[in-house]
Amino acid sequence: MKFIIETYGCQMNVADSEMISTIMENSGYELTDTLTDADIIMFNTCSVRQHAEDRVIGRISNEVARKISNKNLVIGVVGCMAQRLGKELGEMNTKIDFVVGVDNYFKLPEIIEGLYNKRHFVSSVDMNHKEIYHDIYPIRSNELNAFVTIMRGCNNFCTYCIVPYVRGRERSRSVDEIIKEIKIAGEKGIKEVTLLGQNVNSYSWEGINFPKLLQKVNKVDGISRVRFVTSHPKDISDELIETMASCDKVCEHIHLPVQSGNNEILKVMNRNYTAEHYLNRISKLRSLIPNIAITTDVIAGFPGETEEQFQDTYNLMKEIRYDFAFMFKYSPRIGTKAAEFNNQVEEAVRLERLQRLIDLQTEITHEKYKEQIGQIKEVYVEGPSKKDENEYSGKSRDFKITIFPGDESLVGKLIKVKVEDAVGWTLKGHLVE
Ligand code: SF4
Repeated sequence: MKFIIETYGCQMNVADSEMISTIMENSGYELTDTLTDADIIMFNTCSVRQHAEDRVIGRISNEVARKISNKNLVIGVVGCMAQRLGKELGEMNTKIDFVVGVDNYFKLPEIIEGLYNKRHFVSSVDMNHKEIYHDIYPIRSNELNAFVTIMRGCNNFCTYCIVPYVRGRERSRSVDEIIKEIKIAGEKGIKEVTLLGQNVNSYSWEGINFPKLLQKVNKVDGISRVRFVTSHPKDISDELIETMASCDKVCEHIHLPVQSGNNEILKVMNRNYTAEHYLNRISKLRSLIPNIAITTDVIAGFPGETEEQFQDTYNLMKEIRYDFAFMFKYSPRIGTKAAEFNNQVEEAVRLERLQRLIDLQTEITHEKYKEQIGQIKEVYVEGPSKKDENEYSGKSRDFKITIFPGDESLVGKLIKVKVEDAVGWTLKGHLVE
């Protein structure tokens, strides 16, 4: 039996799809990348925004039509939307065969086998808040980058976020399993590893905290680069910053979501830090790692946000000068506290504030990228550029897409590129011998 997984959302979901593939293959199922060959189609879904859910519901509706010509086709939904909606999904679309939540992937082979014996809808979304998928070493869909889950879940309950409700409480994976998975990746020639978790800074396993884990990962042979996402500003310790500075494989980039520059809004978001604390962390990062690239997430128009409070966010972004920012207008998620707040900001105001942030950040990003001209960057070559097959593309250690004239033989190699231009969010240059 062949299966295919269509993945939506963040890198955690990409890693989960690789893990699900391993669980399925261990039970004799075969992974395919061709929809028409698949006997089982799984959608690994995201719930962070309503738009993400609407998109996947549309995709499922398209695929269930295949059941007319293939009566045995099995269609299932896994991931955050499966966890959030459970059997409601089966009521929304009666052609869906199963819905399996984030703690129940080990049951997938058995559930699917059961469906072939007795065809009726199955929903398995119980959460135990403990499942860490012990002893599963994922089959990689990506031959250049290993996304390694180090922890699952989140305890923070930011008032706008659905994640703690659909991913459960924080639990860390053992150091030994993480290191083993990274060694396997290194042996396969993968040079870059990204450690994943909703809040990696809270990692804790038998006295080993995140900085100590980073030190151990840094020593694994075969790999050359280590990244991690996502960090929470309240948990960025001096020890972590010092470790980043001293570990040669840890790349000079941090994604540190600020969300707002106003303390009152940060409080109602339940972020548990102040703008002053955040600025202090940025200053420490920049003093110990002068060439570090800093990226962030920002929300415009959170419930109750006044123009003055918005200005604090605008001014903070101006002061920090991020390399890049993911900017969103606040969008209520059913099931979160903030969706219930009765002081929602008008849509037009949210949009207008978002646009001001985008205009500001676009200018800053442009300036920061232009500042790179003349520099020599180490680039990990990923493949041909999308626009020109004679040009190749990769990422610098500070997470900037870099394009240069090259050929297939460079893919998977670390090379040096001299930057000659910056166009939008891309650096352009030439290979340096
Ligand atoms: S830290 Fe906050 S925003 Fe991030 S996953 Fe947890 S609740 Fe969501």
